[in-house]
Amino acid sequence: MNGSTEVFTSISRSTTMSTETGLWRVQRPVFEPRLSPCRSACPAGNHIAESLKLVKDGEFQKAWEVFLETSPFPFTCGDVCPHPCESSCNRGKFDEAISIRSVERFLGEEAIKNNWFPQRIAEDKDEKVAIIGSGPAGLSCAYQLGRRGYQVTIFEALPVIGGMLQVGIQDYRLPRDFLGREIGNNILLPFAVNVRTNYLVTQEVFEKIKQEFQAVFIATGAQEARALNMAGVNLGGVFHGVSFLRDKALGKLPPDLFAGQKVLVIGGGGVAVDAGRSALRLGAKEVRLVCLESQEEIPAYEQDIKDAVNEGIGIDCSWGPEEFIGDGRGRVNEVHFARCTSVFDAKGRFSPSFDRSVKKSYQVDAVIIAIGQASDLSFLDGRVKRTPEERVKVNDALATDVPGVFAGGDVVTQPATVIEAVAAGYKAALSIDNYLGGKPLTLKEELGQVVEFEELNLGYFEHKTRQSQINDPTSAIEEAKRCFSCGYCNLCGNCWLFCPDAAVRRGNEHYEFNYDYCKGCGICVEECPTKSIILKKERDVKESITDR
Ligand code: FAD
Repeated sequence: MNGSTEVFTSISRSTTMSTETGLWRVQRPVFEPRLSPCRSACPAGNHIAESLKLVKDGEFQKAWEVFLETSPFPFTCGDVCPHPCESSCNRGKFDEAISIRSVERFLGEEAIKNNWFPQRIAEDKDEKVAIIGSGPAGLSCAYQLGRRGYQVTIFEALPVIGGMLQVGIQDYRLPRDFLGREIGNNILLPFAVNVRTNYLVTQEVFEKIKQEFQAVFIATGAQEARALNMAGVNLGGVFHGVSFLRDKALGKLPPDLFAGQKVLVIGGGGVAVDAGRSALRLGAKEVRLVCLESQEEIPAYEQDIKDAVNEGIGIDCSWGPEEFIGDGRGRVNEVHFARCTSVFDAKGRFSPSFDRSVKKSYQVDAVIIAIGQASDLSFLDGRVKRTPEERVKVNDALATDVPGVFAGGDVVTQPATVIEAVAAGYKAALSIDNYLGGKPLTLKEELGQVVEFEELNLGYFEHKTRQSQINDPTSAIEEAKRCFSCGYCNLCGNCWLFCPDAAVRRGNEHYEFNYDYCKGCGICVEECPTKSIILKKERDVKESITDR
């Protein structure tokens, strides 16, 4: 350098933008919504995280519309669904799960109060579809077909619509005015859905329906109470779970039916709990539930049991009925039980065993037997295949062996849940749409991989107390803000902030990558708190850089 002090500086005559550093890339980040655990656990696949993103911004109607894609029952499910989505919520492993059920109920209530209606998604069509049964499966199918423009007729044996929502689940758990308005506003008023109540479908009617309609959905549920095969079950004062609840809901029982009486309920499921709580409301002075299952095995939902116990109902586990004794005047007044030592066999099948040397007796005025439900399939008279358990046999697309006849809900599965019935109605509607459109029935939906808790970038989340009761917009927004948005971009901007190549820009609705400059370093993937960005190998991406 010979002591020279000259410094050389390179000067570019254009911007460095001309050097497309993206050409070096062998992998690229892509925004790809992944499956949130809440959606994965919801039988109907409700887009919960997407809805909560809108709740966060106070966009309640849009958030409600997101639920309406998969279910017409946000209010109802907000009230009675066991919400498997909450048990699988990733936030539950951080502090407490999001109150999804409560937010959903809030949105459903807002919709009813503000008279929001769902939108039609296709033009009117000429094809007519018959739905037998107006429970949640039938109504969900009617809703999905109605919004796709089909002419739908529901045939319902009872004078009321709603199936077990109306005559099983009692009004103290699901207010009837709101249920009626949710069915009216979301299903009956906006679409071409006719309802024929007091219309029992018999073998003859079923044949006529098949001639008149291009497709049929059987959603007749499980209306029969399973019987106990034992001496004394026909004595006066002995009732059967679902028929007792149906009669109560239809106002057929006197309000003082059990005034001052001791009522024993046999069974440990949801129907038994509802029967016991209903007995209290019909004046019983003492109600006791006796079931085969142990405390740990009792099948009713934990919350329902807590509610029953809080109302003063006693529960005795691990007892099986042996004999009903009459009072000599044709009424039951005593029931004998034996100790149940196990309910299931080694393979998990129902096969109770007893120690008959250990006995217990109850003095009673009335007994309600609630040990299960069955379906009456006599109207099908062998025309549609059944399973050995006397349920309608269907394939994955819910199609029976008779072309154009589909089935779903409790008549196919077994007594299950409202949301499972809603899911079946949705699936059947998609299959019927395919069938009538001449497309293959098989439904294939790629839902992607579930976002696991361990994948989330937890450094970006703060601990916050769960709002258990959502009664107003503020608490709904606060609770929605707790959502991790697993698998969905929540517009936090981390990808933009951390990108060393300034290759992330803000688009209209979300962030976008400028692949001319993205070198595929993966920092954005690392920093994304919700794991909605994935890295894809260039060779696996259709629109590779060489195609541009
Ligand atoms: P259903 O709701 O049973 O509806 C079937 C309809 O078909 C009925 O209206 C019936 O009258 C009609 N029908 C039957 N045969 C004919 C015919 N031949 N012609 C015309 N119509 C016919 N689930 C939950 O998620 N949460 C709960 O808290 C809960 N509590 C429950 C409490 C009780 C007491 C009961 C019985 C069930 C409860 N369930 C609960 C389960 C849930 O209600 C059912 O899984 C769901 O209603 C099944 O829906 P579905 O449409 O298949 O049948």
